[in-house]
Amino acid sequence: MSFDGRKIILDPEEMPEKWYNILPDLPKPLPPPLHPATNEPVKPSDLEPIFPKELIKQEMSDKRWIRIPEEVLDVYRLWRPSPLIRAKKLEEALKTPARIYYKYEGVSPPGSHKPNTAVAQAYYNMKEGVERLTTETGAGQWGSALSFATRLFNMKCTVYMVKVSYHQKPYRRVLMETWGGEVIPSPSNRTESGKRILEEDPDNHGSLGIAISEAVEDAVKHENTNYSLGSVLNHVLLHQTIIGLEVKKQLESIDEKPDVLVGCVGGGSNFAGFCYPFVKDAEKEGVRIVAVEPAACPTFTSGEYRYDYGDTVGLTPLLMMYTLGHDFMPPPIHAGGLRYHGDAPTMSMLVEEGIIEAIAVKQIPTFEAGILFARSEGIVPAPESNHAIKAVIDEALKAKEEGEEKVIVFNLSGHGYLDLAAYDDFLYGRLKNT
Ligand SMILES: *Cc1c(COP(=O)(O)O)cnc(C)c1O
Repeated sequence: MSFDGRKIILDPEEMPEKWYNILPDLPKPLPPPLHPATNEPVKPSDLEPIFPKELIKQEMSDKRWIRIPEEVLDVYRLWRPSPLIRAKKLEEALKTPARIYYKYEGVSPPGSHKPNTAVAQAYYNMKEGVERLTTETGAGQWGSALSFATRLFNMKCTVYMVKVSYHQKPYRRVLMETWGGEVIPSPSNRTESGKRILEEDPDNHGSLGIAISEAVEDAVKHENTNYSLGSVLNHVLLHQTIIGLEVKKQLESIDEKPDVLVGCVGGGSNFAGFCYPFVKDAEKEGVRIVAVEPAACPTFTSGEYRYDYGDTVGLTPLLMMYTLGHDFMPPPIHAGGLRYHGDAPTMSMLVEEGIIEAIAVKQIPTFEAGILFARSEGIVPAPESNHAIKAVIDEALKAKEEGEEKVIVFNLSGHGYLDLAAYDDFLYGRLKNT
């Protein structure tokens, strides 16, 4: 470990070698996913047309710790362990007595936390002989993470990209294609699901739910092809726990204890990965855990806790989760990665049980927060991450009012260097405050 007053960097041998599975530590058993045709609990064999056996096992595992394969650790070492950084200049700008730390996941080659699971998923599929993965992507981060990961294991990748993002964010398409991925704007004519939507609404600008329907259909209909999901599912959140396990070691190494943990939530993977290793002791140690979502897609704060489909068309199992309804069409905000109608079932339960708090914030204040962060800390954050930063700034200002020396830790889930068009819209007053 090294600490220069700014960055806490773990030594290579301090990188966690196991992921943490929260399932055995939940306050109640997780309601099972239900088969979309029969409404019966899903059996592992139901999932085999689209997922490899090892990931299905992880999805339902009651083991608290799961060993990370050496081949996956070897890829992680390209950018992990990632730094935990004290946001001193932001603290100064806010004149807050709070100490603010951020875990920076933008150091990965695709620029976000997403390859933590993409690499693991590509690896297990490759081990079971799968040659191609299909997936959906919103802003393009997940598609680029999976294009990167599949390439490292010599596999192919087909990405259905939400149409509005495909046009708003051409550089992520180029990134995916650079890593060898095939990118299709969704809804498309490649699938029955896409065709059906286009018939009803030729100008439909797409959603993650529609793109999932297309990617699942493509995987089911083709040999040696599996589907891969970038958030929501238990095994995805499991792989992301390397983030929080590192943060725990980093904070312990400088004798610091968090009072508040903050992160942005689309489907819940970066925030779960960041905060789950802290959940079990949170109440005992008085740690607040705050999930931040966009007001334009307010799943936790305005949705219902009930069974719903993961996609728009209704091909996926029904999950017990907070949802805005599987046909909810979020407005095209720039934080494309947060435009999902549902939330991870485990995180939904933790919100329902009052263990995780949730708040919703509007788009313009998130960019104001991101700009202040960039002007004090240097890094230009992803629009998604700006949601966390807005909440962190509010917490830090509250600490100032109350004269409290709080420790606020947040996950900076990715950088925004491929989202400069969004910053341009903000800087020149074209951004809507949805
Ligand atoms: C995809 C993404 C998110 C949202 O997805 P989660 O599964 O909720 O983490 C947040 N931040 C960044 C940078 C992303 O790429």
